[in-house]
Amino acid sequence: AAASAAAALSLTSLAACGDDSEGGSTGAAEGKIGVILPDTTSSDRYESFDRPYLAEAFKAAGVEYDIQNAEGSAQRFQTIAEQMLTNGVTVLIVDGIDSNSAAAVQRLAQNRGVPTIDYDRLTLGGVSDYYVSFDNVKVGEALGKGLQECLGGEAANIAYLNGAPTDNNATLFAQGYHGVLDKVSNYKKVAEQAVPDWKAENAATIFEQMWTEQKGEIDGVLAANDGIGNAVISILKKNKAAGDVAVTGQDATVQGLQNILDGNQCMTVYKPIKQEADAAAKLAVSLLKGEKGETNGSVNDPKGKRDVPSVLLEPVTVTKENIKKVVDDGFVKAEELCAGA
Ligand code: BGC
Repeated sequence: AAASAAAALSLTSLAACGDDSEGGSTGAAEGKIGVILPDTTSSDRYESFDRPYLAEAFKAAGVEYDIQNAEGSAQRFQTIAEQMLTNGVTVLIVDGIDSNSAAAVQRLAQNRGVPTIDYDRLTLGGVSDYYVSFDNVKVGEALGKGLQECLGGEAANIAYLNGAPTDNNATLFAQGYHGVLDKVSNYKKVAEQAVPDWKAENAATIFEQMWTEQKGEIDGVLAANDGIGNAVISILKKNKAAGDVAVTGQDATVQGLQNILDGNQCMTVYKPIKQEADAAAKLAVSLLKGEKGETNGSVNDPKGKRDVPSVLLEPVTVTKENIKKVVDDGFVKAEELCAGA
């Protein structure tokens, strides 16, 4: 009970921080931008990076905004959207939990004349005006090449822990890393499973089973993000095999970076989220003003059978060798990394 009270308290204070809507003092753009983030558990990124960077970008543009987190509930996602539309949001940015619920929210907004932007995850079958993300096939390729670098040329058994099947990004990541690793003739895929909701506890259960089934004969683990990677490492530690198995990750979370410094994780994919937040804020402001936004490509939505005008950014591979890059970029502080070492 104490733990859940503490959790509730921290969620309340997060919600309170999120409610820091600000009046547009310059009067440059009328209206209000709403952002709905998916959860607080599948990655540290949403509350540690996306929220503060987005808030900073909206403040700099002098526009009113409201950022909220659906905490993993599609129902809550819908409720937040309805409240935002009632409270005068005129542009809605969504990072959906799953495509069906996000598409329903986008249609609701469209019916009220409110344009939407897909943030990070593309809503399949949605009606967004724009998509802002990293090039997610490239993110997957970076994971595949990263694992290949760590394994070297020797024969290797690889286990794959993919992201949530409800997240289109997980599909694109898998396309990217399989495109790289399936071509290497001395690599053998010994297991592959999707991690429901990207949850660490699900990843731990899945990997523990893989490890038992393979009798520990796994040389490399393609873990789709740092949370999954850390779950895998916890099972490897239990089996006294951490450091002997190459494990990947994504998001350059403090935990992931510490695992790299400890020699338990071989790489992560750093996505400079500030660029993503800035690009989304810029497009949202142009929609507020009724102007056309700038894009640098498009992404196909096979379900909606349409190409969505997109801003796609470049991911960066991070290993022990260039880990300083994330600190130099101001993404994490050196102290944060040293604390756990
Ligand atoms: C994001 C990743 C994140 C994952 C889990 C993906 O859609 O692109 O950065 O690790 O979701 O939240």
